[in-house]
Amino acid sequence: MRAIVTCECCGHRQTVARAIRKPESFYLVCHDCERSLRIEVTAEDISAAQASGARSATTAA
Ligand SMILES: [Zn+2]
Repeated sequence: MRAIVTCECCGHRQTVARAIRKPESFYLVCHDCERSLRIEVTAEDISAAQASGARSATTAA
C-alpha cells in the first residue's frame, strides 16, 4: 500500500515514497517542518487498504 502521513506537528500531508507490504514502523522527516515522525503501519492498516483498493491514511505517532 501507499501510505499518506499527516504530520502531527504542522498538519502537512505527505505520501510515503515506497510501498508498504507488511506491518512495520519507520521514521519519516516532515517536508514542511522537518520534524522526525515515527510511522506505525499495522496489519489493520494494510488489510483496510487492500479491501478498499485505495491509499490508506496514516497518522504519525
Ligand atoms: Zn510537519
